[in-house]
Amino acid sequence: MTSKELIQIEDQYGAHNYHPLDVVLAKGKGIWVYDLEGNKFLDFLSAYSSVNQGHCHPRIVKALTDQAQKLTITSRAFRNDQLALFCKQVCELADMDMLLPMNSGAEAVETAIKAMRKWGYKVKGIAKDKAEIITCAGNFHGRTTTIVGFSTEELYKEYFGPYTPGFKSVPYGDALAIENAITENTAAVLIEPIQAEGGVLIPPEGYLKQIAEICKKHNVLLAMDEIQTGLGRTGEMFACRHEGVQPDIFILGKALSGGFYPVSAVVTNKEVLGLFTPGEHGSTFAGNPLACAIAREALNVIVEEELPRKATELGKYFMDQLRTINSDHIKEVRGKGLLIGVELKDSAGGARRFCEAMQAEGLLCKETHETVIRFAPPLVITKKDIDWAFERIKKVLETL
Ligand SMILES: *Cc1c(COP(=O)(O)O)cnc(C)c1O
Repeated sequence: MTSKELIQIEDQYGAHNYHPLDVVLAKGKGIWVYDLEGNKFLDFLSAYSSVNQGHCHPRIVKALTDQAQKLTITSRAFRNDQLALFCKQVCELADMDMLLPMNSGAEAVETAIKAMRKWGYKVKGIAKDKAEIITCAGNFHGRTTTIVGFSTEELYKEYFGPYTPGFKSVPYGDALAIENAITENTAAVLIEPIQAEGGVLIPPEGYLKQIAEICKKHNVLLAMDEIQTGLGRTGEMFACRHEGVQPDIFILGKALSGGFYPVSAVVTNKEVLGLFTPGEHGSTFAGNPLACAIAREALNVIVEEELPRKATELGKYFMDQLRTINSDHIKEVRGKGLLIGVELKDSAGGARRFCEAMQAEGLLCKETHETVIRFAPPLVITKKDIDWAFERIKKVLETL
């Protein structure tokens, strides 16, 4: 079948909850993806940073196929020989005590919400059903009904109410606003170290550090949603480490499996996850041996191939290049490591048409928030590939 036919069938039978570029991908290797007709593209989205390790990384393919022939699922009714070492490995990487595995990122956020609320009641002594969690305007934490309830994006929530109570919204980037929003009922602050979906918004220097101090001072937990920013993307294993911040809770997903399989996790000190007792929470697929084997190798690749260091070096190189582009459309180039956003002026007519023009040049990018083009290639990209891509990006931005 041709791409055209498949697009027609997908549009007929698949729900239209996405607006994808019309490219039907059939193969991936490293930073490259190939459509059905064999055209080659550089993947500048990395499935929202799920494939930091590059598409179909051979080591992870091997871990997957080896494990798939041994044992794939046990449920948590029984133990398996992969879960323990997965938990230990992530805890050591995150400098934490305990891990609770889930599947999707949104499930990990939901799990963290439960854990933070329970901590609020059992440890902080908040009155029953009064626990509050502070979130930020412009956040993206996933798509469940509870999570979209505290989104500030009308599109994500408009027809999906009524919303779960217990969340308070403050502007992003303003630490004092958080301090002012804290009450005796505040259990936690849930935050992204960089708002990636929000348009690659980088908070002012020192913001995360200030929040960490405020949380400590008021006996409030700090939860970092590092689902997209974590695991090397911004040049550190976790983005909050740029400011030397260790939160109470890490929420991880996406690249935790190198893009092979949904694997997410909540990682905390003993005081938080130690509160869960048998039967209170769970998921049929979470912590299965296939997921754990994949994730263990996905993490080995990040560490052994020094992907955070690559993201730092190449991110700086790429951003310096992008800043030399002479285009009236560009308002700002910003980013950290290889999470880069090019914000266009309102007069540019939206980022989508630029993404479509780049597709014709062999680059796949996706606009975020109408006016921002996100550049987030797999971290295994080389200087040579960046040079190749830059010529094309420059051409599109300077001629369109
Ligand atoms: C992608 C993402 C999520 C949700 O993860 P899913 O696997 O899509 O449920 C949550 N938070 C952040 C910061 C994300 O980027």
